[in-house]
Amino acid sequence: MLKTIANMQHKGGESTLASMSIETKVLQKTSPDAPFEIATIQRRDPREDDVVIAIKAAGICHSDIHTIRNEWGEAHFPLTVGHEIAGVVEAVGSKVTKWQVGDRVGVGCLVNSCGECEQCQAGFENHCLNGAVGTYNSEDVDGTITQGGYAQKVVVNENFVCRIPDELDFDVAAPLLCAGITTYSPLAAWKVEKGQKVAVLGLGGLGHMGVQIAAAKGADVTVLSRSLKKAEKAKELGAVRTLATTEEGFFKEHRGEFDFILNTISANIDLDAYLRLLKPRGVMAVVGLPPEQQKLGFGSLIMGSKVLTGSNIGGIRETQEMLDFCAEHGFGAHIEKIGVNDVDAAYDRVVAGDVQFRFVIDTATFEQA
Ligand code: NAP
Ligand code: ZN
Repeated sequence: MLKTIANMQHKGGESTLASMSIETKVLQKTSPDAPFEIATIQRRDPREDDVVIAIKAAGICHSDIHTIRNEWGEAHFPLTVGHEIAGVVEAVGSKVTKWQVGDRVGVGCLVNSCGECEQCQAGFENHCLNGAVGTYNSEDVDGTITQGGYAQKVVVNENFVCRIPDELDFDVAAPLLCAGITTYSPLAAWKVEKGQKVAVLGLGGLGHMGVQIAAAKGADVTVLSRSLKKAEKAKELGAVRTLATTEEGFFKEHRGEFDFILNTISANIDLDAYLRLLKPRGVMAVVGLPPEQQKLGFGSLIMGSKVLTGSNIGGIRETQEMLDFCAEHGFGAHIEKIGVNDVDAAYDRVVAGDVQFRFVIDTATFEQA
């Protein structure tokens, strides 16, 4: 059934739309094992403080894979994932003040939060005490389940939209909305700076953003990867060197070397071994979230007074700061662009660590599919 959205306006258009139903093609799965299929769904009713975004590019984050394969618990099916969204504002609600039709914008992992708790008030919507609304697989303001960005359109509260600087194309900007902010935030929080020895553990979507951001801050960046296959590319990203963690004697040879380790690994990891690579009082920030619980011996923290911390994406203000930082330093994500029919194969390649460094779906390919 088509709904009437009397309060949506096309700014710059001739008149207020009498009715607006936000129908969109999406890529969805009906179960973890089913292939992706194209479906047409209706977005939730836009409100007066919402914007409608025509999506140009959508990144594939490993969290999409964990979620839709039920690796983090049972997801709500049918489900569309995707929380690295870049596009153009297509319509705005009557009370929207921040955006106009035609603005270049991005949406990350959040589409709403209470806005009132101390965390939201301080700009940490990602830590909303009343539970922020995730971009997909989350309960929305109207009780429906949010559907993500592998789609042509999305409806989002205006406060959860960021500006994409003109210097960044949509496809290289999309991954910044999750991979960018997730790595920027801990590097900023722990004040990583010039001269520090930083290791980025795992060179995938998050890792390659972590390398670029840490290098832009002047840190001496080492990539810790399973092999040296990506070493050339790592150098282009700003790493001083790449070390293969699978090489004999690796952990012994590099003991006590790093001030800061950014851990982006999506699978099981020997935390105790990697903590030994830190200098005394060094910090490991964990952003990778493997499905299984990991083991830790307290001795690995006590000896050398080390810090093990975690970090969950970032707030909206900081996401904008990160986008501006990337534009100012002249980099975006390094991507492989794919069409809507390529996503199943892309997932297998991500899990195999075989992507340099983010797959991005060109949503124009919905038209030909
Ligand atoms: P990704 O592109 O698949 O990168 C993960 C990297 O981890 C791989 O490139 C690989 O690096 C390494 N890796 C994978 N399997 C491994 C194994 N068995 N042993 C050792 N290393 C392995 O994934 P991503 O999109 O960057 O996401 C990484 C993780 O962060 C995921 O768990 C994701 O859910 C999580 N995440 C967390 C947040 C947050 O807010 N904290 C946000 C987004 C994503 P090499 O090939 O270089 O060895
Ligand atoms: Zn993500």
